[in-house]
Amino acid sequence: VDIARALQAVVDAPGFLVDADIGPRYRGRGGQGSPMAVLRPTTTEQVAAILRLCHDARQPVVAQGGMSGLVDGGTPLGGEVVLSLERMHRIEAIDPQGRTMTAQAGTILQTAQEAAAAQGFLLPLDLGARGSATIGGTIATNAGGVRVIRYGMMRDSVLGLEAVLADGRVMSSLNRMLKNNAGYDLKHLFIGSEGTLGVVTRAVLRLRPAPRSVSTAFVGLAGFAQVTDLLAHLESHLAGTLSSFEAMWRGYDAFVRRLCPSLRPPLGPEHAFTVLVEALGSDAGSDAALFERVLAEAFERGIVAEAVIAKSDRDRAGFWAIREDAGEGFRKLGPSLTYDVSLPIADMDAFAASVESQIAARYPQATTLVLGHLGDGNLHVVAAVGSRDAAAKKTVDDIVYGAIRAVGGSISAEHGIGIEKKGYLGWSRTPVEIAMMHDLKRAFDPHGILNPGKVL
Ligand SMILES: Cc1cc2nc3c(=O)[nH]c(=O)nc-3n(C[C@H](O)[C@H](O)[C@H](O)COP(=O)(O)OP(=O)(O)OC[C@H]3O[C@@H](n4cnc5c(N)ncnc54)[C@H](O)[C@@H]3O)c2cc1C
Repeated sequence: VDIARALQAVVDAPGFLVDADIGPRYRGRGGQGSPMAVLRPTTTEQVAAILRLCHDARQPVVAQGGMSGLVDGGTPLGGEVVLSLERMHRIEAIDPQGRTMTAQAGTILQTAQEAAAAQGFLLPLDLGARGSATIGGTIATNAGGVRVIRYGMMRDSVLGLEAVLADGRVMSSLNRMLKNNAGYDLKHLFIGSEGTLGVVTRAVLRLRPAPRSVSTAFVGLAGFAQVTDLLAHLESHLAGTLSSFEAMWRGYDAFVRRLCPSLRPPLGPEHAFTVLVEALGSDAGSDAALFERVLAEAFERGIVAEAVIAKSDRDRAGFWAIREDAGEGFRKLGPSLTYDVSLPIADMDAFAASVESQIAARYPQATTLVLGHLGDGNLHVVAAVGSRDAAAKKTVDDIVYGAIRAVGGSISAEHGIGIEKKGYLGWSRTPVEIAMMHDLKRAFDPHGILNPGKVL
């Protein structure tokens, strides 16, 4: 049987795309090779039928959500069936007593956040790509984002899920309880496995009470010791409400002032470090006063050099734009390589200095910027070295990942491995860990049809 024809029969006409109908969305950033076809199923049964056929025909499959991933995990390498979950975007239920949401995998994160908010709940996962990333994609990458310090990564918001295995069997594990120790907790194998162990079709997500207050400040500090002192001070005095602690290293404040005219740094003079701090509380009356008092104490103790508290949503959006929307400045720096790594907080400043000096020694004109979710041990490095070609990438990868390996950090904090970091997995995982990953892969996907060439 012709596999393409058999697959076409599973879905409706808009669910099957070939040749010129396969738009750039499905080709990924790399545009490495053309998929054989794009399938856009609308039900779990269709996903199961597609995978059954592909399993029998040894036909590779790559699952796609919003295609906002940053390591090319969803990029077809050529000849695969693209399985896009984009038409499976129904929010099936919100249970106010159990505080859960059940949604299909293709639901856009922001849509799910808004549906939760409309019922007085918070779906805590939040990240810059909220308007395109999907529930399935954020599960498959175990996405992190800007509130991890308070609510954890996506893994911490998934109570249950439904996934279709490589051979087309449906693993329905739509648990709705916080506690369930009945044997192995299989959902975790799919969370963060980047579409290599199964295709997520539905999930039960944990909701939290919607916060009643948001307090945001933009803070300037003289050195790294002050940054870590501020984190400790806020964690111990803000009654558990600290939700974001986004640090921007030496040079970032100057970069914003010089190259990002649409951003408005709220602080007077330039500071060595700037930090965006946000707390989500439950008492609209007293939270703002507590937040102000705690920051004032930090100022009196010499931790903080200058701080501005957002007085309006507009102020708040302006602070976040400095952290999230510096694209205009990055473009002016020319071609850049970006990194997402994690490491112990105590090692961060030495790491940043070492990476910057090694890059400068190799590329004297380079600009290296470091920023990130410091409270989570997660930094992003942007290295504008004048080129993104394979040689430059290898040189800078070796520098950044070498410095990470030296402190026992991780080459991927939250973006995953995809194709981008595949060659470096062994710099963060032991041979036994990697052998176990291969064992799992073989057990779940004996013919290796799920996202071949990625992760391992
Ligand atoms: C501006 C911007 C900001 C970002 N900020 C953050 C951040 O702060 N934190 C963070 O963690 N990430 C961040 N990201 C990365 C990205 O948004 C996340 O990785 C996100 O989880 C990807 O979701 P997606 O639906 O777009 O998945 P895709 O990009 O479509 O796919 C990602 C991977 O998951 C697999 N996959 C997708 N759907 C499924 C499914 N249903 N079943 C099985 N496998 C599947 C794909 O094969 C691929 O390997 C950011 C990206 C951008 C563009």
